[in-house]
Amino acid sequence: MMTPTLRLGVTGLARAGKTVFITALVRNLVSGGRLPFFFPEAEGRIDRAYLEPQPDDAVPRFDYEGHLETLGQDPAGWPESTRRLSQLRVTIEYRSASPLRRAFGVSRLNLDIIDYPGEWLLDLPLMSESYATWSAGAIEEARNGRRHADAGAWLEFLSSVDPYGPKDEQAALNGARLFADYLKTSRNADHVLHTSGPGRFLMPGDLEGSPLLTFCPLPLEPKRSIPRNSLAAMMARRFESYKTHVVRPFFRDHFSRLDRQIVLVDVLGPLNEGPKAVADLQRALDAVLAVFRVGGASWLTALLGGRRIGKLLFAATKADHINSSSHDRLEAILRLITLRAMERASAAGATVGVEALAALRATREGQARAGDERLPCIIGVPMPGERIGRKVFDGREEAAVFPGDLPENPAVALAPDAGPVGLNFVRFRPPRLLPPGPDGDEHALPHIRLDRALEFLLGDWLA
Ligand code: GDP
Repeated sequence: MMTPTLRLGVTGLARAGKTVFITALVRNLVSGGRLPFFFPEAEGRIDRAYLEPQPDDAVPRFDYEGHLETLGQDPAGWPESTRRLSQLRVTIEYRSASPLRRAFGVSRLNLDIIDYPGEWLLDLPLMSESYATWSAGAIEEARNGRRHADAGAWLEFLSSVDPYGPKDEQAALNGARLFADYLKTSRNADHVLHTSGPGRFLMPGDLEGSPLLTFCPLPLEPKRSIPRNSLAAMMARRFESYKTHVVRPFFRDHFSRLDRQIVLVDVLGPLNEGPKAVADLQRALDAVLAVFRVGGASWLTALLGGRRIGKLLFAATKADHINSSSHDRLEAILRLITLRAMERASAAGATVGVEALAALRATREGQARAGDERLPCIIGVPMPGERIGRKVFDGREEAAVFPGDLPENPAVALAPDAGPVGLNFVRFRPPRLLPPGPDGDEHALPHIRLDRALEFLLGDWLA
């Protein structure tokens, strides 16, 4: 009998935790980690899980071994983040929970994990936009958006070129570079997206330096026709090529083939910056998650085909930065942030869940004494250069940090007039992955609630 395949998409904006999540998930599966809420494992029904050669030759492999190596260094380092699409196949041999199916012996499932930048989902709306409408929107955003200060050099460039003048490769190169710089600077300022893309300008993947990215919006006059061989005609043609050769293949060949999807979100960072950053995160997620909408226009149906994502999980990552008493609160805040997308996805027939997790737990909980009071704190090794008060850490010394609490009512955290939640946010070193024991047994990696995410995403398949 053919082994069935389940395609799990893992996405999220830059630094949301995709690489860490996939590495930890695979490691816990293949090494039989402690996963009490992932029932197939807890009930001892998983015989073994192992890596298999991946099925698609044209897709880069997720660098699982490289990431483990980084975690195995002394001192351990965090693996390199996702920059492009990659894939990994894990085969799971298990016994079904149903006695009838168990009578047929061991069952097998190929789990294909597809890692891709969430920024690429921003490109979906481009498919239904013309170059002129896209230009008008992007220029409006650059002039009046929250990060308009970053757009200065590019806007200056726009005022120096004539879109209706003859095409000019040098001008196209300059314009594209300044436009991409502006998008990246505003994103890097606070790790929140302030833009509607294009996705590859933020995360080019293998297209770094490609002519497919040599275009940018130009100020066009609404009723004026664009002469052939003009700069505007050249830019418009490249915009269309981007849609044809970049956006369409991604959605057709990868996104539309996913069965399940987990969207990782770094909620704690923006929460700590204050309500404006949270509002930006919410807007960015809304744009990214617009892809999970019902029915819609015929071009969308044609692009995505008949298949649907059956289960969608939103996960707030890095929960080891707060006390366990705040994990449910973090979950409630993410639920509120993604409310619209959740409603859209469940209307489209998907089962939707929310989880707060730490795929790789870098801290443990303890208590610190402050005068007569005992405060719950988290203990870990801050990364080199991290500061607590005036102390700068060297990357080897442990520290106990009182992380602060999240508000009990999630609406309070999202209110426009709320202050920052005031978490003490320290980047910790990951736990070191030890080499296999004398009997060849591989060590699992510590986590928080990774097992619940696994149960949501895979549990029913393995039942
Ligand atoms: P990606 O861009 O989505 O692939 O993000 P990564 O997986 O590379 O994660 C970015 C950074 O977030 C890492 O380098 C870590 O510093 C931090 N991080 C991710 N997951 C965890 C986690 O579970 N716990 C902690 N403490 N930090 C995490």
